[in-house]
Amino acid sequence: MKLFQCTACNQPLFFENTFCTTCGSKLGYLDFKFEVISSSNSNDFSSEDVKYVYCANHQLDACNWLISKKNEGQLCKACSLNRVIPNLNDDENFEKWRKIESAKHRLVYSLQRFDLPLKNKLDDPENGLAFDFLSPTDRNPEKPAVRTGHANGVITINIEEADSVHREYMRKKMDEPYRTLIGHLRHEVGHYYWDQLIYRNIELLEQYRKLFGDEREDYGQALQRYYDQGAPDHWESNYISEYATMHSWEDWAETWAHYFHLIDTLETAYAFGLSLNPNLQKVSTMNMQAGFNPYYQDNFDRIIEASAPLAFAVNSINRSMGQPDLYPFVFNPSVVEKLRFVHKIMTTSG
Ligand SMILES: [Zn+2]
Ligand SMILES: [Zn+2]
Ligand SMILES: [Zn+2]
Repeated sequence: MKLFQCTACNQPLFFENTFCTTCGSKLGYLDFKFEVISSSNSNDFSSEDVKYVYCANHQLDACNWLISKKNEGQLCKACSLNRVIPNLNDDENFEKWRKIESAKHRLVYSLQRFDLPLKNKLDDPENGLAFDFLSPTDRNPEKPAVRTGHANGVITINIEEADSVHREYMRKKMDEPYRTLIGHLRHEVGHYYWDQLIYRNIELLEQYRKLFGDEREDYGQALQRYYDQGAPDHWESNYISEYATMHSWEDWAETWAHYFHLIDTLETAYAFGLSLNPNLQKVSTMNMQAGFNPYYQDNFDRIIEASAPLAFAVNSINRSMGQPDLYPFVFNPSVVEKLRFVHKIMTTSG
C-alpha cells in the first residue's frame, strides 16, 4: 500500500489512522484520490472546495473513509458493500467485525487501485458485490455452520476467522502456511471477478482453461476428493498452494489472491523507496530496487524480478524476530504464467 501523510503537519500515517498524534488533526481517507487528508478545526473535511464528512461507520470506530457532506449519515463505498453484519451488541462480535472491516477496506483500496468494476449489489442485484459477515451463533444457534465462500456476488465470511486463535487452529488443521483475513477476502473476491471478467469473455475463458484447467469439472466431487486424498504429489511444481489443486476455480482464486499479495507488498516497498543490495558474492539476482509503482507496471517480469529478492529479504527479517516467514511461498514457472494471466486482466480491464 502507499504511504500517507498528514496534510496539516506531514507526519507519516497508516491508512487506518483517524487522528494525527503529532498535530491532533482528525484524519479521513478520500478513496477517489487515494489520499488521507486532515480536517480543519471542525468535523468537516474539505478538498478542492468540496466538503466531506466521515462515513456513518466512523461512529463505530470501523471506518475512516470520507463521503460528500451532502450524503451525511450514509456509508462509504467500502462499507456500503456490507449486506449482513453480525449482531454488534455482542462485544466479541464487534471486535471481530472491526478487524474484518479493516481488512476489507484494504481489499477495496486494491480493487480501486486496479480500477476494477465495483458495483454494490443493492444498486445492481445481478452483477454487484455484497458481503455477509456472519457469526455462527447469530445465524442459527441450532445449526452453527457458517462457511466462508462466494456465491453469485455474495461473499460470506465466518467472523470466527477474525479470532487469531481460531485462525491458527484452522491453519494448522488445514496444513496451510498462510491464513489471514485479507487473504480470505482476496481469495473470495477472486471468485466474484472470475464471474464478472472471465466467464462472459469466450477468448479469455479459453486462455483461462489452458492455464487453470476446466472449471466445468464437478465441484462437489472435486471437494470430496480433496478432503479424502489431499493434494497430489509434487503439487508445488504447478500450484501456489495445496488448496489450489482442488478445482480450477480454487486455483484461480488462490492465484488471484497471490497476485494481490505481490502487488501490495511491492507497492509498500515502492512507497518506502526500498532497494536491496545484499552482501553476497557472485549473485546479482538478489539485488532489487522498488523503483516503480506496480499498479502501473505493464511488464510483469519486472514485478516478479523485484518480488523474489524482496520475499527473501522480508523472510530473513522475520526470522531475525523469531516470526514465521512473511512470504511462505515459492514461485515456479507454471505459477508465474498463471500470475501473468491475472496481470494481463488487471492491466486491460480497467
Ligand atoms: Zn498532523
Ligand atoms: Zn465506511
Ligand atoms: Zn475459493
